[in-house]
Amino acid sequence: MTKLLLEKSKPGRICGNLPTEETKDTSNFIPKEFLRSATPTLPEISEVDLIRHFSKLGRKNFSIDSGFYPLGSCTMKYNPKINEQIARIEKLNTLHPQQPEDQVQGAMEIMFILSEYLKEISGFKAITLQPAAGAHGELTGLLMIKKYFEKLGDKKRNKILVPDTAHGTNPATAGMCGYKVVELKSNDRGQVDLGSLKNNLDDTVAAIMMTNPNTLGIFEENILQISKLVHNTGALLYYDGANLNAIMGIVRPGDMGFDVCHLNLHKTFSTPHGGGGPGAGVVCCNEKLEPFLPVPVLTKGTNKKYFWNYARRDSIGKIKGYYGNFGMFVRALAYIWANGKEGLNQVSQDAVLNANYLKEKLKEYFDLPYNIECMHEFVLSGKRQKKNGVSTLNIAKRLLDYGVHAPTIYFPLVVPEAIMIEPTETESKEELDNFIEIMKKVSHEASSNPELVIGAPYNTPVRRVDEATAARNLNLCWGSSCK
Ligand SMILES: *Cc1c(COP(=O)(O)O)cnc(C)c1O
Repeated sequence: MTKLLLEKSKPGRICGNLPTEETKDTSNFIPKEFLRSATPTLPEISEVDLIRHFSKLGRKNFSIDSGFYPLGSCTMKYNPKINEQIARIEKLNTLHPQQPEDQVQGAMEIMFILSEYLKEISGFKAITLQPAAGAHGELTGLLMIKKYFEKLGDKKRNKILVPDTAHGTNPATAGMCGYKVVELKSNDRGQVDLGSLKNNLDDTVAAIMMTNPNTLGIFEENILQISKLVHNTGALLYYDGANLNAIMGIVRPGDMGFDVCHLNLHKTFSTPHGGGGPGAGVVCCNEKLEPFLPVPVLTKGTNKKYFWNYARRDSIGKIKGYYGNFGMFVRALAYIWANGKEGLNQVSQDAVLNANYLKEKLKEYFDLPYNIECMHEFVLSGKRQKKNGVSTLNIAKRLLDYGVHAPTIYFPLVVPEAIMIEPTETESKEELDNFIEIMKKVSHEASSNPELVIGAPYNTPVRRVDEATAARNLNLCWGSSCK
């Protein structure tokens, strides 16, 4: 069989790449043993059917374009459409990472300008844009810390302190870098307990990893004291800046005393992070850690030309193919420029205001374990509802019936039946009020008709799934091929 299937194609039908007259007869240049012996049965489908298929699938999906998305510790749900257009400009999206520096000075300038802004926003001196996610940024930062102590000849430091409210990637990263993880207790204000910190601080500690505001959405009031205590023992401070939009233009991790941080462009700077990527977990650091940044370091030469600097003796080496996810950098810079200095500050003010508004309105209906002013998010507990047999998971499922995405649940671990809510700055008061009404309704149902909530969801394309069984017995077949 040497002829491709051109004959079968009808107008408006799609059946693979259409061969030209020259490529139709392939027998000249493809060795015989590779040629097909029988006609392949290629799927044939009309354009109309194809579009309908994908539109239907798209409507089954829930996204920020379809409704409210209060998922906590996740921040950016807003991906301005203009950013997508800019990232798709042909001159940007057709570049190849192996093009010589001379040909891509404009792209390097985009990365350089973005770097300058991110350094200014975070309060640090140096940066790498390479890491592809927050967790990847943590790995980069901790490897730099490790190398720093190696360079000092300090071999005793084998521990990383991590508060009990930390995102799971913090202890996981510390473990991956060969460190022992020591958990710090939170106090009754949902903050790092100074006693617990002092008890665990000695010259075997390499660093503390902190999120501020932490994952309870609470600002660590003692941060300056903490950074002093930690630095006095010679250890360093790592800042998890995955969600920076509570503090932009208000305070800076560098000024709080941190030595290194990662920022998730896919959380704070509007780049999409659905479906697992691509992300960007850029890492900023101070003078102490600058020598250890991964290579290459983007540098502006004296001739005003940008170049990739590989000549760095103490670098931890390479941590990502090429230079990071360039499309994310374009989007993030577009976002920063669109907002400007005042705009970014306003983003933070509004994010904090929206979260506090929801917290105040909802604390009557759900337990609020830490009843203090929150930053960009807050955490309720479903303990009261649990007494009626309605778990936080059930509440989350019931919310789907009312057309909103579920909040983050069962995290942070210090709150039983946790419901972690982050509205973000983009939501109107009407939308927030609508969510409050829905939450009230679900709380009422949980006491008046618990069975209803326990059986939810009823209106979603797929009803309640048994997640454990689904994960254990993966079945990825499709339609008629399903057994
Ligand atoms: C999301 C998040 C991370 C991890 O970021 P990824 O890009 O998902 O790897 C780390 N810490 C906090 C606080 C986060 O919210």
